This record gives sequence, C-alpha cells and structure tokens, in this order.
Amino acid sequence: MSDIRDEVRAGFNTLYGYEPAGMWSAPGRVNLIGEHTDYNKGFVLPFAINRRTVIALGLREDRVARVASSFADEVVEIDLAELSPEHLHGWAAYPLGVAWALGERGADLAAVPGFDIFIESDVPVGAGLSSSAAIESAVAIALNDVWCLRLDRPTLASIGQLAENEAVGAPTGIMDQSASLLGQKDSAVFLDCRSLDSEIIDLGFDAAGLVLLIMDTGVSHSHATGGYAERRASCELGARMLGVESLRDVTVDDLPRARETLDDVTFRRVRHVVTENQRVLDTVRTLRESGPTAIGDLLDASHLSMRNDFEISIAELDLAVETAQANGAIGARMTGGGFGGAAIALIHRDDLSRLQVAIDGAFAEHGFGQPDTFVVVPAQGASRES
Ligand code: ADP
Ligand code: MG
Repeated sequence: MSDIRDEVRAGFNTLYGYEPAGMWSAPGRVNLIGEHTDYNKGFVLPFAINRRTVIALGLREDRVARVASSFADEVVEIDLAELSPEHLHGWAAYPLGVAWALGERGADLAAVPGFDIFIESDVPVGAGLSSSAAIESAVAIALNDVWCLRLDRPTLASIGQLAENEAVGAPTGIMDQSASLLGQKDSAVFLDCRSLDSEIIDLGFDAAGLVLLIMDTGVSHSHATGGYAERRASCELGARMLGVESLRDVTVDDLPRARETLDDVTFRRVRHVVTENQRVLDTVRTLRESGPTAIGDLLDASHLSMRNDFEISIAELDLAVETAQANGAIGARMTGGGFGGAAIALIHRDDLSRLQVAIDGAFAEHGFGQPDTFVVVPAQGASRES
C-alpha cells in the first residue's frame, strides 16, 4: 500500500510540478453472494478487497480540471464549466464524470476550484473486481473533502453510480460503489437494493483462517451483448406476469404459483432471483449464528442456480467451481454477470496451494487457457491516505 502511495505522489509531482494537497484511496470489491439480484431490487453481499485505487489531488487557482493515470498515456483537461456527459469520453469519463455528478447532486460547480488528479491502481481492470467503482469512489471522497461538500457515503455511492450510468454510459447498479465506500476490514456490506439500507456484517474470515480465491477464466464477457439484457428482460417479464413491481416481492413460497403462471424459461429465471435473494438472507444469518465455515452450501447452491436456472455459466466457470469444490474449498460459485469472467472459492489458507495447482491442471487437461488465480481478503473501504 505505501508503495503505491509513494508512486502516486511521485507521479503527481513529475506530471504537475507541485506537491498534491492530499491522497485518497478506494478499493475494488467482490460479491460474496447475491447475483443478478440488484436490478430486481433484492439483496447483495459484496465486500471491499485489498486492492486499491489511490489518487493524489491538488487544487488549482483556475477552473480547469486535469486527470492523468498510470493506466493511460495522456492528461485529459476540461474546464469545469464544460463538464457534461457529452464532453466526457474513455477512461477520463470515470473521474471527471464524478465531478460532473457532484454538480448534479448539490455541488455548485460555478463556485468550486479546479483540480489536478493523478491515479494509480492495483485493482485488475475488467476482471469483475470493479476497478471502475474504485476510481469513482476515490475521486468522490477526495472532491467531497477538498470542495467541503459534507456529503455522506451513501450519497457519494449514488454519485459514483450516476457518473457510471450517465457519463460512462454503463447501466450498472449501486452495489460496487456501496461496497467500495462502505466496506470495512474483515466485513461485508449487506445491501438492500430497494431501500438502499446497508449493514456491515462481520465475516470472520481472518479468525477462521479463510481467504477468497478469485479464479479469473480470462474469458471476456461484454454486458453490451445479448445475454445480460435478455436476463434482465426475462426478470421484468416475470414480475409483470406475476403482478409485482419487481421480483423482490416474490418469495420462495410463491414459487409453486409462479410455476403455473409462467413459461418454463421465465419461471427458471424467476426462481434463480427469488432463491438467490433467500440465499443472501440465509448467508447473513448463517454468518451471524455459525460463522464463515458454515456458508459453503449456500455458495455452492448459488452456482447451481446460475448454471441451471439462470443459465449464465460457461464450461470454464463450471470447471473452476467443481475443481475448487473437489479440492478443499468450503464453497465456490461463479461471480459477476456471467458468460465469462471469474469464479470465487472460499478456502482455508492452508489448502490454497493445493487448489491452485489443481485448477491449473484441470484447465490444461480441458484445453482451456490458463486462468489467473489470486487471493483477496475483505478490507477497509475508501479512506483518506494523507
Ligand atoms: P471493472 O469495473 O470490472 O474493472 P469496467 O469496464 O467497469 O471493469 O471498468 C474498467 C474501466 O475503468 C477501464 O476500462 C478504464 O476506463 C477505467 N479505469 C479503471 N481503473 C483505472 C485506472 N487506474 N486509471 C484509469 N482508468 C481506469
Ligand atoms: Mg465496473
């Protein structure tokens, strides 16, 4: 962590030629359980991870905003008066989109000073760990501080989401920003996507010697392509046919009736969402009553539901999950939107190397490209670094 901080300060100095006013950081996140429940106004249980995006920021005397990142070979510059989604493109739409979104939600952009930002990150990009929310959340807390806005963290999460929806143009929910901004060490964020109420849930991984292994299949998925939108449409259709506003209003007890009302495919999509919501609630209860070693069956059941009912898994994800289950994992499931991306396995530290070897072997045996495997632990959310 201090390494990145040193790099960010040095990067800022080299680029802009003065000392930054401060540094702020925000983590990526992983979703422990609760997949495709967010847009159905249900429950999710993500946690902030020990991979962070760090930014250095200096205030300017004029009204210019400049952003740069070790990730890109350019400094993007814009006058605050010009900030609007139409003027923001590429990676710079994330940090500058947050400045714009703050203006939409109460900051007086005509009265605040311009700024220079330099960004450095060890959150893998596009691996489903939400490097996007990390950058948005780091910029949101930084501008909230230096512009003296006094906005609370849930509001900053909605500002990050607004930036991503409008300035970047990605139709994502509020889970990622909530995890990045509200997360705490060794804890998960239990988020109700309807009320937006959240609660910090002790995970107890550390005391139990557990870690989460990310198994990134390297198979790229794009939310722009059919599958994701199709699943959302099925959920909306199911809700409409069942006469409810969202699938949040359907419980496991309603499923027999739903089976009679819906065609088979829509029924199975609905069943995934309904049972997944229940699994999130059961995971929270189990964590409280019995601790993290008892949640394995819920993780496994979540995967089966995504594979069989929601049909968003692929052979590589199934192989990663099955190999983990056969090699000491407490539980495993694919995570994220599906059709590629990563699976997760909850596992004791002592069993890690055995599992990593088994995964590499299994993928080679099936002729699949080598997956990228790495450990994440639940970490502190966004914070000021200096
Ligand atoms: P994910 O959030 O799963 O990592 P996204 O596609 O949502 O993937 O967001 C990735 C995008 O966020 C990148 O393509 C880039 O535009 C932006 N981004 C992420 N990290 C950085 C960074 N350190 N510097 C600049 N842009 C970044
Ligand atoms: Mg993202």
